[in-house]
Amino acid sequence: MNFSFTDEQLALRDMVRRFAEKELKPCYTQWDREKKYPRHLNKRMGELGLIGMAVPVEKGGMGASHVSEGIACEEASRGDCALTMSTFAVGHLDAAILSQGNERLRKEFLEPFLAGDLVPAFAITEPGSGTDAVAMKASAVKKGASYILNGEKAGITAMMDADFAVVFAKTDPAAGARGVSCFVVPTNYPGVTRQSYEDMGVRSVGRGSIFMDDVEIPQDYLVGKEGTGFIMGMQGFDVSRILLALEAIAPAMVSLEETIEYTKQRQAFGRPIATFEGVAFPIIEHVSLLEAVRLLCYKGLWLRDQGQSSTAVAGMVKWMAPRFATNAIRDCLVLHGHPGYTNEFPLEQRLRDVLSIEIADGTSQVSKLVVLRELFGRDYLPYNYRNK
Ligand SMILES: Cc1cc2nc3c(=O)[nH]c(=O)nc-3n(C[C@H](O)[C@H](O)[C@H](O)COP(=O)(O)OP(=O)(O)OC[C@H]3O[C@@H](n4cnc5c(N)ncnc54)[C@H](O)[C@@H]3O)c2cc1C
Repeated sequence: MNFSFTDEQLALRDMVRRFAEKELKPCYTQWDREKKYPRHLNKRMGELGLIGMAVPVEKGGMGASHVSEGIACEEASRGDCALTMSTFAVGHLDAAILSQGNERLRKEFLEPFLAGDLVPAFAITEPGSGTDAVAMKASAVKKGASYILNGEKAGITAMMDADFAVVFAKTDPAAGARGVSCFVVPTNYPGVTRQSYEDMGVRSVGRGSIFMDDVEIPQDYLVGKEGTGFIMGMQGFDVSRILLALEAIAPAMVSLEETIEYTKQRQAFGRPIATFEGVAFPIIEHVSLLEAVRLLCYKGLWLRDQGQSSTAVAGMVKWMAPRFATNAIRDCLVLHGHPGYTNEFPLEQRLRDVLSIEIADGTSQVSKLVVLRELFGRDYLPYNYRNK
């Protein structure tokens, strides 16, 4: 057993940490207040090779391991855990899908997206179906050399800034999960309209709905084969959920580091408040829990790199990380006293941003159902996709 990163991974960690300190952290609160997606930073991440890092070299990617992808995601999230929901979590899902696409998809979408020139969206949720994604209503009907798409996708990260969306739609409504296919829909096509949301967090990246009204796309924009979309999406979640967990842990760890410094400086009753066990012990408890989950994240990514399943670990960290991180940031805010409650500190924003990770990419409950399926077996699920 070896807990250390390779020299190459340590160099990557230092490079991304410097980038996050210098270019992400200083404007983290500004983008939130302005509700502005910082496209130039998406471009910078593309230039640094941080988008879709695990895409194989022959497909135009870096061919990095998932552990390396996790290191970059964690370090970038120390600076801006909102932007990384787009560049790393959505970025991973779309990169994993597009790298299974044809040459045309590679040239028109995958390459410019990896370069940071296109902002991606991943659209599976609908107004009437989120956790039960197979119940989606969006349809795609073949017409000559085109597909005609209809339906609405809801709650989509970065939808208002996205240049394209990877969209899941039914090509065979009677076939359940096996009737779901995956398409690339450019957001400037006729028949596409969008609507933004007023969210409590992740406000720089934002969310929105996409409405597809007889949107005609070339048949080449089908990814893979008809009926394979759902499986492709689920395979991506086995990594993106771990990246999201790291996106929750990183800002919580930064908050705890800042709180340790603050409590060493702040005096009460003639001594630093850090010397009160009531102050120090919660910090220690949060660091202990988060460090344990962080190691489990890297174990999951390592399993995936070894060609083994990371499904159970992804389910475990996806419910634990945002819950523990939210609790940690909340205590950090309180330990800063009344100034902690102002937006002079980024704590309130981190709390709002990290809470979203309890829902995005599947809620804590569905994450536990994923673990249940792995531990107990499919027959003990409260539902059964095979019968749909
Ligand atoms: C910040 C953010 C970003 C998002 N980004 C995207 C995106 O980019 N693309 C996208 O497609 N979607 C996105 N979503 C949507 C997200 O994936 C869904 O909100 C999520 O899957 C839950 O679906 P739902 O909201 O329809 O809740 P529902 O499925 O209606 O569930 C409501 C509640 O019931 C619980 N529940 C449902 N079924 C069960 C069960 N069997 N057992 C126990 N509890 C259950 C759920 O956990 C939840 O608490 C995002 C959401 C958020 C908040």
